[in-house]
Amino acid sequence: MRTEISEMTGLTGLTGTGSAEAELNWAGNYRYTAAAIHRPRTLEEVQDVVAGAAKIRALGSRHSFNSIADSPGSLISLENLEPGIRIDAAARTVTVSGGTRYGTLAEKLESNGYALPNLASLPHISIAGAIATATHGSGDANGNLATSVAALEIVAADGTVHHLGRGSSPDFDGAVVGLGALGVVTKVTLDIEPTFAVRQDVFEALPWQTVLENFDAATASAYSVSLFTDWSGDAVAQSWLKSRVSGVTGGVAAMEAAFAGDTHFGGTRATVARHPLPGVSAENCTEQLGVPGPWSERLAHFRMAFTPSSGEELQSEFFVRREHAVAAISELRALSHRITPLLHVSEIRTVAADQLWLSTAYGQDSVGFHFTWKQLQAEVEELLPVMEEALAPFNARPHWGKLFHADAGSVAALYPRFADFKDLAERMDPGHKFRNEFLARKVFGE
Ligand SMILES: Cc1cc2nc3c(=O)[nH]c(=O)nc-3n(C[C@H](O)[C@H](O)[C@H](O)COP(=O)(O)OP(=O)(O)OC[C@H]3O[C@@H](n4cnc5c(N)ncnc54)[C@H](O)[C@@H]3O)c2cc1C
Repeated sequence: MRTEISEMTGLTGLTGTGSAEAELNWAGNYRYTAAAIHRPRTLEEVQDVVAGAAKIRALGSRHSFNSIADSPGSLISLENLEPGIRIDAAARTVTVSGGTRYGTLAEKLESNGYALPNLASLPHISIAGAIATATHGSGDANGNLATSVAALEIVAADGTVHHLGRGSSPDFDGAVVGLGALGVVTKVTLDIEPTFAVRQDVFEALPWQTVLENFDAATASAYSVSLFTDWSGDAVAQSWLKSRVSGVTGGVAAMEAAFAGDTHFGGTRATVARHPLPGVSAENCTEQLGVPGPWSERLAHFRMAFTPSSGEELQSEFFVRREHAVAAISELRALSHRITPLLHVSEIRTVAADQLWLSTAYGQDSVGFHFTWKQLQAEVEELLPVMEEALAPFNARPHWGKLFHADAGSVAALYPRFADFKDLAERMDPGHKFRNEFLARKVFGE
């Protein structure tokens, strides 16, 4: 077989750099334990590798902060498969290899006059890895990135190829946010739409009282709204508004009029570009100051060509039904004496309800409370149970790819279709080839 294989514990790593970094996730807080990584170049090679493995899991771009992607056997990365981007103009879809990064796809779509409805905060993540954990951006009417999936090609445990389509496969809603537990997603078909332009405006120091009294209006005030806070003090540090300036009712003139003001819920318009972290240069952030540009260069917070954020960080995120958002914020502000010292910054975003069984927005319009922590893992892990207890009355769902304390029993109870997912995973992977310690401890409880 021509498939490239590297020993994870040896000198040749994921990136071929030969450094120890190769064995780590993006944040460097998790060292993969898998013995080897396979990097096939074709679908047939993927099938051979999966069929021949006793234990294997797919690895994306390694942006998760926990052990979700690891395997007690080997890993398989799709980074050597061609993206094979195929636009179907009539169906308004694009089909792409699962290992492709959003930034690569976005550039290609934009140059062909098309767009995805939304992006996460960074474009560097792989498409299959992102949808597997219900990765999201923001926007009251925007579902998470997994909701754009129209069809999946999955290599199952025995190496056979399965095609699941929205509306045509009963298992589809269970398979999209699959946590890597069902097989290797080799191709993803996503909904697309005609390209659109977006402007990004940042406001600073929004009084909490004004934001909380008008929470629904504040999150509805643009196509995508992010509120950045460290939970201390009386004001939200920044609001980032991403507004569509084409293809919306009223057109550019109406949108310009809407943004003519210099205040936003008591906050003041930033007159220079900002990074979400105080004092950090905005050069790796997407363009702000209301300058319209393609969706592909505005919907993420960070530019494809730069490493996002401050580098040394950990992340957690919890989602509550949006009716509970104001009460949940009150709980988190009350914990600011514990949270703020460990924090770089938090981001509050909204996600529209969906029907994907393990989506963190399953069945409910949601608000996500994201925490970019300093790299103090022991201290963060000590605090997480306290935060989860404070958010328990709201049945907060943790982000699958970030740090959380809850175990399988309490997590399963948050998902009405959990038993159906468990049943689907048993059917697709009866020999538990795709299981790992994370899934045992945090999901299936075995
Ligand atoms: C700087 C930074 C910013 C982030 N911003 C956001 C954000 O804005 N919103 C948000 O929701 N999350 C965000 N995240 C979290 C991130 O989007 C998720 O952890 C996502 O799952 C990472 O994708 P990945 O390709 O790196 O997957 P990995 O971390 O490599 O794997 C994640 C899961 O996907 C599975 N998987 C990967 N590839 C496949 C495949 N081909 N077939 C089947 N399963 C597969 C793995 O087995 C694993 O279970 C951020 C992370 C970082 C580091």
